[in-house]
Amino acid sequence: METIWILGDQLTLRHPAFERLTPRDAVVLMIESSAHARRVRYHKQKLVFLFSAMRHYAEELRGLGWQVDYRREQPSFEAGFAAHVQQYRPTRIWLMEPTEYGVADLLQQLAAAWQVTLHQLPTTLFVSDRQAFAAWARGKKTLVMEHFYRRMRRQTGLLIEPDGEPTGGTWNYDKDNRQVPPPHHPFPPLPRYAPDAITREVMDWVRRDFPDGYGHIEPFHWATTRADAEHFYRDFLDHRLDLFGPYEDAMVAGQSALYHSLASPYVNVGLLDPLEAARQAEKAYRAGKARLTSVEGVVRQFIGWREFIYQLYWLRMPDFATVNFFGDTRPLPHYYWDAKTHLRCLRETVTQLIETGHTHHIQRLMVLGNFALIAGVNPQEVNTWFWLAYLDAYEWVTLPNVLGMSLYADGGFLATKPYAASAAYINRMSDYCTGCAYDPKRRHGDGACPFNSLYWDFLDRHREKLFPNQRMRMMYAAWDTMRAAEREATLAWAQQILNRLEDL
Ligand code: SF4
Repeated sequence: METIWILGDQLTLRHPAFERLTPRDAVVLMIESSAHARRVRYHKQKLVFLFSAMRHYAEELRGLGWQVDYRREQPSFEAGFAAHVQQYRPTRIWLMEPTEYGVADLLQQLAAAWQVTLHQLPTTLFVSDRQAFAAWARGKKTLVMEHFYRRMRRQTGLLIEPDGEPTGGTWNYDKDNRQVPPPHHPFPPLPRYAPDAITREVMDWVRRDFPDGYGHIEPFHWATTRADAEHFYRDFLDHRLDLFGPYEDAMVAGQSALYHSLASPYVNVGLLDPLEAARQAEKAYRAGKARLTSVEGVVRQFIGWREFIYQLYWLRMPDFATVNFFGDTRPLPHYYWDAKTHLRCLRETVTQLIETGHTHHIQRLMVLGNFALIAGVNPQEVNTWFWLAYLDAYEWVTLPNVLGMSLYADGGFLATKPYAASAAYINRMSDYCTGCAYDPKRRHGDGACPFNSLYWDFLDRHREKLFPNQRMRMMYAAWDTMRAAEREATLAWAQQILNRLEDL
C-alpha cells in the first residue's frame, strides 16, 4: 500500500498523485496538527475554516472512492504520522510540494525517521513554474510584476486577441479603477453559508482548545466545501464582477466586501482553481456580462499578483523572513488586536477583521500597512500579525506582501517605492474620515490626524535611503518647499504621536 499525504492547503481534486495512483493502490492521509495550529494566535475563523474544509474534503474523496486515513485533533504531525505508519505500513509516501518553505524538509525528515520514501510532486495550485520564474528573475535588480503579468497573459492566452495583442489594446486598466461609490450606494449582499454539523463540531474544538485565537468565532459564514466555494464565486461573477474594477480601491465604513470576489481564501487552499476562475471571469466579459476594466483586474489578481508573490517568496527564501531595511523596532500597537482606537480608519478595518477574518487589499495596504510603515513598527511583528489574522494569509502570502510590498522592508526589491501615504489618500478613497475624532486636513496640534505628521516624519527620517529614488522626488520636493516653521512643528508633533502611539 502507498500513501498520499495531503496538507491542509492542498484541497484540490487536481492533486498530481491522483493521476498516478488509484484508490486500489493508495490510502490518503490527512492530519490535523494542534501544534501547527498553535504556532501563532490564528484567527479563530481561520482555524474553523481550514479544519472544516479539510474534513469536508476528506468526505469528498471518500465519495470518489478513496480510502482516507483522517487523523483528527492530533497533538502534532509527528504523532499523526507515526500512528498512520504503524497502522498502514506504507511503502511510499506521495506529497505535492508544500507551499511553505521548510515544510518539505520537515516531512522528509519525518519519513526518513520511519524509513519510508517520500516522493514529492510539483504543485498544481499555481499556474507558473518555479524554474522558469527563477530564470526570468536572474540578474534583475528589481522585479516588475507588470512584466511578469504580461508573460502570464501570453502564456495562458487570457484576454489576448488572435493577433497576440491584449484585449482592448491595453494590458492594465488600473488607472480606470480608482472611483469612490456615491453615499448610500447599495452594495450586493454576500452569500452566507450556515455552519453544518461538521463545521459546528470544529467550532466546538476551536472554542475548547484555541481560546486565545484572534477575533470572533461567530458569526461564521464562510463556505467550507468545494460546491459552496464554487457557488460563492459564481455569485461574484453574476453580481459583483462588473463593478469590481471601478470601486476596487474604495473603502466604505460598514462594508466588508464591496464588489471584491473574496475568492482568495478558497483559491489558497485549493477549493477554487486560479486559472479556471480567471477563465470564468474572461467568459463573463466575452458574454457581455462584465466590463473589461473589471475583468482585467480580476485576471491580474489571479495570474499576475498571486503567482508573482508565490514565486518571489520561493526565490527569496530563507533570507526574506528577516529583512528590515529601515531597522524598525517599535511594537505593534494594541489596536491591531482589539480595535480600541480613535483612528477611525484603523478601528473600522480591524473591527471588520476581528468579525470576519478578512478585509480587502487597500485596507491592508493603505490603512494597516501604511500606518505600521510610517510609525516604524517592526516588520516581522507586522508580518506575523497579518499571517495570523487573515483567513487567506499563509507565509508565502504575507512575507512578500507585507515585508516587501507594504513595509518596503526588502529595500525596494518588490515595490518601486514605499506605499506611504498621509490622510489625504484615505480621505479621498474612503468615508472613514467623516466622523473621525481626527482632522485629516491638519498636520499638527490637538486633533490633527496622526497619519499626516507620521507621513512627513517618515520621509524626513529616511531621507538618506529614499531620496535617491526618482519616484520619491516629488514628495521630497513638496516637503522641502514647506515653510521651515511648518516642517519643525510637523516633526515635533510626530514625536509626540510616536511617544503616545498606544493611546491614539
Ligand atoms: Fe484615519 Fe486620519 Fe481619516 Fe481619522 S482622519 S479616518 S485617522 S486618516
